[in-house]
Amino acid sequence: MDGLMMDYQLNVPAILRRADELYGDKEIASHLPDKSWHRYTYADFVSRTKKLIVALRGLGLEDGDRVGTFMWNHSQHLEAYMGAPVGGFVTHTLNLRLHPDDNTYIATHGGDRVLLVDKVLWPLAEQFIPRCSFDHVIAVGAGDTPEDAIDYEELLADADESAFAYRDLAENTAAAMCYTSGTTGRPKGVLYSHRAIALHALTVIASLGITADDICLPVVPMFHANAWCFPFLSTMTGVKQVFPGPHLDPVSLLEALQQEKVTLTAGVPTIWMGILQTLDANPGAYDTSSIRMMTVGGSAPPRAMIEAFSERHGLHIVHGWGMTEMSPVGTLSGAPGQEAGLEPQEAYSRRALQGLPIPFCEIRARGATDLVPWDGETMGELEVRGPSIASAYYESDEGADRWTDDGWFKTGDIVTIHRDGFVEVQDREKDLVKSGGEWISTVALENALMGHPAVAEAAVIAVPDEKWSERPLGVVVFREGEVASPDELREFLAPNFAKWWLPEKFEFVDEIPKTAVGKFRKTALREQFAKQPAETT
Ligand code: ADP
Repeated sequence: MDGLMMDYQLNVPAILRRADELYGDKEIASHLPDKSWHRYTYADFVSRTKKLIVALRGLGLEDGDRVGTFMWNHSQHLEAYMGAPVGGFVTHTLNLRLHPDDNTYIATHGGDRVLLVDKVLWPLAEQFIPRCSFDHVIAVGAGDTPEDAIDYEELLADADESAFAYRDLAENTAAAMCYTSGTTGRPKGVLYSHRAIALHALTVIASLGITADDICLPVVPMFHANAWCFPFLSTMTGVKQVFPGPHLDPVSLLEALQQEKVTLTAGVPTIWMGILQTLDANPGAYDTSSIRMMTVGGSAPPRAMIEAFSERHGLHIVHGWGMTEMSPVGTLSGAPGQEAGLEPQEAYSRRALQGLPIPFCEIRARGATDLVPWDGETMGELEVRGPSIASAYYESDEGADRWTDDGWFKTGDIVTIHRDGFVEVQDREKDLVKSGGEWISTVALENALMGHPAVAEAAVIAVPDEKWSERPLGVVVFREGEVASPDELREFLAPNFAKWWLPEKFEFVDEIPKTAVGKFRKTALREQFAKQPAETT
């Protein structure tokens, strides 16, 4: 027997319509390139978004056409984020930090017909625009409009808002697109549906307990995995939205967090490392008491960082794990309700794990052949399934082997799953050190090393070894004015690791190369060090 419920489509137009009807007075604030602040209301935002949709139709765009964006986090980017899917088009975020060759590939492969680009980013954008086939390039922000580009404000000024009407788009229609950032080979397109976004926004809102009283500042770029769904879930909930624009240095961020009384913010660990150092160096200089949660993900936040924020600054990290392919949130640790009754030290250790799957994200892990038990010890590759997880890459056969025959997505992350369902990422499959037939987690070693007082950053990579086939090599950046010997580092690690896990060799460097989204670029380290093995020290 079928249920007797309405066949209601879960779509982005319903999210915008809700904001239109309920949250007209709420505010959206953006930090502009000249360091001034732009402020307007949701009513202004919705009105301009409708004009953008009318204008894009006027430029000849049809249902399903891709609208590329090459922008910082700010209100116009939000207009495009919501406008493209509400208009029946597909937002395609391009990553500012990728090489122009990659963006040429991604915009071309994605079939982008239009590109919206920040005028301040023009010098970067013009390195790939002529190599793509955009019909129109729209320049956003203050300043001169480059030749051949359309000025965003003029485009909106000429658009007739009354020509806009909400459409009831089928929930499985494409709404947005994002390419994985390429740490795992050639970029591959993930094509989100309206339904995936709507369900994901709901589950993240519920998991973090977000309400209209929250004030959200996503530091995570809108071009990185949907900014972890923040633009959609914020608009759905009617929170005050604060955007940092291009100002991502710790001082600007801390000033913005304090000034706007932000309650919830989100970013990768490298951003928070910088913020922690600034807070430590300037005791009492910033009032961060409004912040109730800082979501940190994209790579694992070291336990020492989680503890330092909490103990020294009263700031609570919620640790998230996810992937572009997963909309992107998969698991959360330290979310409301997860740490009841735990002593602080116990809570920090648990928060350093990747956490429990959010609703509608099912998990299992597979060893060489069989599924592994949830015993917190046996390692296996994490597989996931759910309504906000990709079922294929966009127009690419490459990577088809990431899906199992029974419809699960193979994450490429090697994990243990604890008895209570907490996921602990041990490594990426390709980063794992396979020493004498056993696996060594580079992530665990890195996070422990980053707890040493002299260490600012540490990456561990596999280097070839005649006897063991691979051994771990520690690559370490010291804090200013600090040093430690390899012996001291090994002694520091020894209490928490089996002896055979400890790196025999260390390299001390000024900087660890990072990917476009701020993760350690281990491929570069492997190229640098695997060929010329370090001195045994
Ligand atoms: P890319 O593969 O292009 O870097 P993503 O940005 O989607 O793409 O990264 C997803 C991967 O990032 C995950 O598979 C995982 O390896 C890593 N990751 C994300 N969050 C965490 C976390 N909290 N802890 C450890 N690893 C993480």
